[in-house]
Amino acid sequence: MNITASKLYDYMQCPHKVWRDKYGPQDEKIKETNPFVQLLWDRGVFYEKEVISKIGDFLDLSKGSLEDRFKKTIEAMKNDSPLIYQGVLMTDNLVGIPDLLKRMPDGFYVPIDIKSGMGREGVDEESGSEGKLKKHYAVQLALYIDALNRLDFENQKIGTILDIHGNNVEYNLNESLGVRDSTTFWELYEKILNNVELLVRNKAENKPAMASSCKLCPWYDSCKKWVEESDDLTGLFYLGRSKRDILNEDAHVYKIQDILTIDIENMMEEKKKNKEMFKGIAQKTIEKIVARAKVLKEDKKPIIYDKIEFPKVSYELFFDIEDDPTQEFIYLHGVYERSDSGEKFLDFTAKEVTPEAEKKAWHNFWQYIRSLPKDDFAVYYFAPHEKSTYKRMQKRYPDIISEDEVISFFEHDNVIDLYTNIILKHTDWPVSSYSLKSLATYLGFKWRDETPSGALSIQWFNEYIKTGDESILKRILEYNEDDCKATMVLKDGIEKLN
Ligand code: SF4
Repeated sequence: MNITASKLYDYMQCPHKVWRDKYGPQDEKIKETNPFVQLLWDRGVFYEKEVISKIGDFLDLSKGSLEDRFKKTIEAMKNDSPLIYQGVLMTDNLVGIPDLLKRMPDGFYVPIDIKSGMGREGVDEESGSEGKLKKHYAVQLALYIDALNRLDFENQKIGTILDIHGNNVEYNLNESLGVRDSTTFWELYEKILNNVELLVRNKAENKPAMASSCKLCPWYDSCKKWVEESDDLTGLFYLGRSKRDILNEDAHVYKIQDILTIDIENMMEEKKKNKEMFKGIAQKTIEKIVARAKVLKEDKKPIIYDKIEFPKVSYELFFDIEDDPTQEFIYLHGVYERSDSGEKFLDFTAKEVTPEAEKKAWHNFWQYIRSLPKDDFAVYYFAPHEKSTYKRMQKRYPDIISEDEVISFFEHDNVIDLYTNIILKHTDWPVSSYSLKSLATYLGFKWRDETPSGALSIQWFNEYIKTGDESILKRILEYNEDDCKATMVLKDGIEKLN
């Protein structure tokens, strides 16, 4: 079976997916493409077209059968064609379609991929950090380079990413992954290629594992069912694939129920004697895992480890933003306000994808915050996303609010990240995920929308922008309002646990 760049990408997202795609129960796979995944795909295609329309002369090999395109690609490279679009590289079991193949002065070819994302990760202008090469870009380029090498059209291990800002980012695959890891990107590629080959030939098999990447995956229902039926350890909150595999191999613990029988003292003794055992699982981690398993399997009710005092104030705000990370655009700041005069929802919405509209919504939000009685209001939100997004927004629109004001807003004792500061540190719940949806649903809250999700909201927003259909905007606002209300239900629920 052929190995493509997208198979390698899939493996990096989830090592199980490659196997399940070929050998999993096909009738359990969701057939429709997730609308958010489609949106990302369309955006990538659109960006690629935009770049290509400005790139000048090239040989277009994007049409026809794979075999035909492969023959033409080889012919074109033999004839020193300077730039080839969507050429096909086929050799052994590798099939690669780099966006561009560029002839270098020495006659060899370099693959170029056009990406609607940044060419590097962790770029920080403030600290001057140039960031690192992205592993998944590197591995995809490596497949093209490997094919070119095998076909004798490339003698180095270098590719290029043409990124969202028009930068040509060189990917030298002889570079190591980082200062602490001397593995090169090429070695990483070879390892992944080998694993993928084994999986597609059914010479190796691995297990599903519930993780954040599952949400957009067509196998979500199928893998969730498997995890539940087998009582797999990844059904326990925060116990991911790597810890699951270690507990399977080193402790022969395969079910959440069996976690309750773990002798922590004994385990730590074994770890002391043999450093290879229980790697990455410290005493505190295993204590937490055992405590969570107990709440899930025995207590079957939430538990609070310390008394939590929430601020006594006149106004409580439950706050949630909606943003489209694919175009770094914040389109909605939602607040559900509770005070002596009742409850109401306020939205600060950008109804166009323009900096002016985004800035106006952000300005109006801060005007509202400034209108509240100083130190007599509390703000509740769920997870650090709001805080990190607002820090970035401040840099984009520094005339709306100063950096100090944003920092002191989030550092105020009355501004509380319920997930990071309360849920994670002081509570445990008899559910497998501690997402807002899962916890508020456990407490009896119901979203008006049947399939609420942030990813869908982004898709709706893009549809609203395209069509101007007010019923779509209503759906976005209702979803955001319900998220804010769910945050309120959660805060109240935590208070009752005291
Ligand atoms: S649902 Fe999760 S575990 Fe299953 S294939 Fe998809 S990403 Fe992998």
